[in-house]
Amino acid sequence: MQEKKVLLEVNNLKKYFPVKTGMFAKEKSFVKAVDDVSFHIRQGETLGLVGESGCGKTTTGRTIMKLYEPTSGQIIYDGKNIEALSEKQMVPYRKRLQMIFQDPYASLNPRMTVGDIIGEAIEIHKLMGKKERQERVLELLNTVGLNRDHGARYPHEFSGGQRQRIGIARSLAVNPDFIVCDEPISALDVSIQAQIVNMLEELQEKLNLTYLFIAHDLSMVKHISNRIGVMYLGKLVEIGSSNDLYNKPLHPYTKALLSAIPIPDPNLAEKNKRIILQGETPSPIDPKPGCRFKDRCKYAKEKCGIEEPRLKIVEGGRSVACHLF
Ligand code: SF4
Repeated sequence: MQEKKVLLEVNNLKKYFPVKTGMFAKEKSFVKAVDDVSFHIRQGETLGLVGESGCGKTTTGRTIMKLYEPTSGQIIYDGKNIEALSEKQMVPYRKRLQMIFQDPYASLNPRMTVGDIIGEAIEIHKLMGKKERQERVLELLNTVGLNRDHGARYPHEFSGGQRQRIGIARSLAVNPDFIVCDEPISALDVSIQAQIVNMLEELQEKLNLTYLFIAHDLSMVKHISNRIGVMYLGKLVEIGSSNDLYNKPLHPYTKALLSAIPIPDPNLAEKNKRIILQGETPSPIDPKPGCRFKDRCKYAKEKCGIEEPRLKIVEGGRSVACHLF
């Protein structure tokens, strides 16, 4: 079968935030939130991006969207490097790249009706007249399982799951082909999470969407992702197919993340003992040389404190950044 085209390619992406440190906050340091991260996503594919809070996954998503200016690196979208584009030059891409946010309540303007929220981007991009826009909003409400009456109501009148449906309808309004889903189910009840994931999968199939699906835990990305990338302290430490990562995690950090997923079968759970990580996640401000996971890794050796492991292909198209491989 012919492989689909690469829609997004991220090369050596960095996003550093300056911070003042030292006595009287006179020294300038950097939070290296995203530090030399590279990956690609094919059209119609979902790449899951996981890691603990503060690992840089959300900053990666926001930098790709150009909500943050990249410090350096390339963001090649459909063959064009959008990294250096001005706000004006980005306008055509703003329609194609959309985002769904973690907190569907905070991201919806409480003073606007749901219909106006969903139709806002159509109005900003001047894509349709008023009547056509209203029809499009009704169609979108229907697409995400809401009804026409919901369009006249306000966000506070809805449950968390319904609010996330509104956020999804808003993201679809301008016919995007790529959506960054930034922890879209983390704030929802477990019973609602599966509904939202199923809906996103159906929409992907129907509209040929490509997703970057960000989550803090591997169980949340398992079903929806074709491939998964694992981030630790600004670095991508492992990336591979969803099946490979679940069945045979290679990086010690991926192993620890996977072992934290509860297994309902007590026999299997007994075999798969949870790996408790020792110590705290180190500060992302001017990280020390070597592997960033070294202070918490039981396999750490001398080289790990000196040389930073590079992401390299190890087997079957998967890559890992660890001196054990
Ligand atoms: Fe552990 Fe060393 Fe591998 Fe880092 S490079 S994960 S410290 S073994």
